[in-house]
Amino acid sequence: MMWDDNLSSPRDTFVTHLECSMTGERYKADRLHGLSRAGWPLLVRYDLGGVRRVLTPQALSLRPMDLWRYRELLPVRDSRNIATLGETATPVVALPAAGKRLGLDTLLVKDEGRLPTGSFKARGLCMAVSMAKELGVTKIAMPTNGNAGAALAAYGSRAGIETVVLCPEDTPEINVREIAARGARVYRVNGLIDECGKIVAEGAEAGEWFDLSTLKEPYRIEGKKTMGIELAEQLGWEVPDVIFYPTGGGTGLIGMWKAFAELESLGFIARKRPRMVAVQAEGCAPIVKAFEQGEEHAPRWEGAHTVAAGIRVPKAIGDFLILRAVRESGGFAMAVSDAELRASVDEAVRVDGLLLCPEGGATLAACRKALEQGLIRSSDRVVLFNCATGLKYPMSDQSRHLDRHAPVDHSAL
Ligand SMILES: *Cc1c(COP(=O)(O)O)cnc(C)c1O
Repeated sequence: MMWDDNLSSPRDTFVTHLECSMTGERYKADRLHGLSRAGWPLLVRYDLGGVRRVLTPQALSLRPMDLWRYRELLPVRDSRNIATLGETATPVVALPAAGKRLGLDTLLVKDEGRLPTGSFKARGLCMAVSMAKELGVTKIAMPTNGNAGAALAAYGSRAGIETVVLCPEDTPEINVREIAARGARVYRVNGLIDECGKIVAEGAEAGEWFDLSTLKEPYRIEGKKTMGIELAEQLGWEVPDVIFYPTGGGTGLIGMWKAFAELESLGFIARKRPRMVAVQAEGCAPIVKAFEQGEEHAPRWEGAHTVAAGIRVPKAIGDFLILRAVRESGGFAMAVSDAELRASVDEAVRVDGLLLCPEGGATLAACRKALEQGLIRSSDRVVLFNCATGLKYPMSDQSRHLDRHAPVDHSAL
């Protein structure tokens, strides 16, 4: 007996085709694709009627709790191609004390830091790498601010695919070393993530490797979409009122929005959608600016800077998809300062014992501001996304010194 029959049981798959997210032009499934001919992200489409006939919430509830339990809504055809390191369902953790201080009845965190490689990049990259394997890719390159590169390196090693990772030269040491330790060739580049992305695109054009940049291939979004399915399942197939999402390239926000539409077609959830809030840092807020100006696209943000590296993305190719989801949902976009997001990280761990990453702290800071500005209500059921473990980020030294040779006043410690 296998301990996880999500990985071993043959399950029906339902991908029918891919579709250009801008023009709707169709593409054949089971072929290697990057962007559409018009240069936009491709979305995977399924025979949802077929899925509906074989998959019920009841059947799902009996399966092992990893993201492969949603196989019927995922693109991998042959389970032998699944590259897995144990993509466990992540917990929804309440922040009762922080919620009370804000005046919110229900403040929840989807804690994605529990995934392999310590971030939700694992969800996207286990899927993209499994599909790359299924479609015969042998070498992959990708730009990263840290977490995505670590996940790519890990799943590449798992799948036997060679990986090359390019990161901005100021990427924290811990991330650069992790990427190398997990098996990728990693280069520090004197530029930002989109400038690293340009080098990756040129290499792909020259036939050196497959380009796995955010949204430049169709399957990372399918992995990230499982956050939305999983969250709905954990909340009893009812979506929350508001989701605060730290937005860089936006795959997770776009993926969840896609998930909710698919779940409604399946009859798993009703028509209600959460209001989607794209949270960015004041030092890099292209989506917030475009949202406020009523634009459909977000021009590159010059001089991007923030300690929340995961959301330091000056230009997102899926900008219009993020903005569409935010607007259709009745949500909004909001920027917070590094000081605010740091204070929120400190607060959550002090009063509720949950260590957020800086990007997760940004969502808590945005939630506070949104309440103050009357953009959300105290009765709203709110979910924040903490997308990585706080353990990979620098922490301030708050220790004190104790001399064991001197008299120790235990009551003063
Ligand atoms: C990548 C990343 C994000 C941004 O995710 P997108 O889906 O690309 O917008 C947020 N937080 C952390 C910790 C990340 O690693």
